[in-house]
Amino acid sequence: MIKFEIVHEDNKTGARAGIIHTAHGDIETPVFMPVGTRATVKAMTPESLKAIGTQIILSNTYHLYLRPGHDLIKDAGGLHKFMHWDRPILTDSGGFQIFSLSEMRKVTDEGVEFRSVIDGSTHFFTPEKVMEIEEAIGADIIMVLDEPVKYPAERKEAEIAVKRTYNWASRCKEAHKTDQALFGIVQGSTYEDLRKLSAELIVDIDFPGYAIGGLSVGEPYPIMYDILSYTVPILPRDKPRYMMGLGDPTNLIESVSYGIDMFDCVLPTRVARNGLAMTSVGKLNMRNAKYANDFSKLDPNHGCYTCNNFSRAYIRHLVVSGEILGAILLTWHNLAYLLDLMRRARQAILVDKFAEFKADYEVVHEDEFGAI
Ligand SMILES: [Zn+2]
Repeated sequence: MIKFEIVHEDNKTGARAGIIHTAHGDIETPVFMPVGTRATVKAMTPESLKAIGTQIILSNTYHLYLRPGHDLIKDAGGLHKFMHWDRPILTDSGGFQIFSLSEMRKVTDEGVEFRSVIDGSTHFFTPEKVMEIEEAIGADIIMVLDEPVKYPAERKEAEIAVKRTYNWASRCKEAHKTDQALFGIVQGSTYEDLRKLSAELIVDIDFPGYAIGGLSVGEPYPIMYDILSYTVPILPRDKPRYMMGLGDPTNLIESVSYGIDMFDCVLPTRVARNGLAMTSVGKLNMRNAKYANDFSKLDPNHGCYTCNNFSRAYIRHLVVSGEILGAILLTWHNLAYLLDLMRRARQAILVDKFAEFKADYEVVHEDEFGAI
């Protein structure tokens, strides 16, 4: 079980600094959670993740269920032991992957039938089955099975998903027997009354934490922030709030100002493998020829392993040569950059300077990864 402690609330925005106490250690919030889809954060060893101050990682139930299988992970002694990671882990429920990856799927009130992306085999997830899988994997925080909808969604479709997400959340709570912290998920697409209804229904079930799902799926950012503005106030003040699937630095800072505590996204690791760096001077495409003779630091204002030891020219050489180390160094920097950004945001919140911090940051970094 977890315990959430609010350390300080900013006096001008909704931002707050907190601590989530777990059996595998404390998590200082706001926090960014690197994503280890298949029980590995791509290009990073657990020791590397610790070196950049990673407090918690996320792993994907859908992928682990298909391969290597949750029974194997249970036999290994749980995911922490299997992947040699002794800090907190969160697993999602697989709902988002089923809806985004599986072309062949059939949703009923009972559950969702889908085809494996690996071999095309047919599988059926119910809320009870997802609890069984997540309990076998053994993460500290686990998520209910929900039904996300695409953007834009018809009102009727969003309404059905809200009701189904509520029913499935209730069944997850009923089936959940371990001391893992089970979080509820709010849906409702872009409809204000449906978002509010979903939040009220999910809060009514009573979970130790709440996620806002179905955001950052293609809707314009003003709409996303609008949804946060009326959804977050319905969520209990004394429980962690988790916004799923957000990784653009500007979006993170803006969302912190609405009172979000937890984030995850594949963005920093995925763009790193495409040769992109998130830096204090904006997005850098390291494939660009202008870095060929640039012997300066990757980010002039950053002090991570990559920035301290390697030039832009060297990193560009690795990237254009297709060398593994290029992906490793950029992943290291991008994750360290986002984790440091969250730590700086937390420091600013603690001294009631978050509004100034946010304004300064957004001058340089307006939605730079929004198009990816
Ligand atoms: Zn760096």
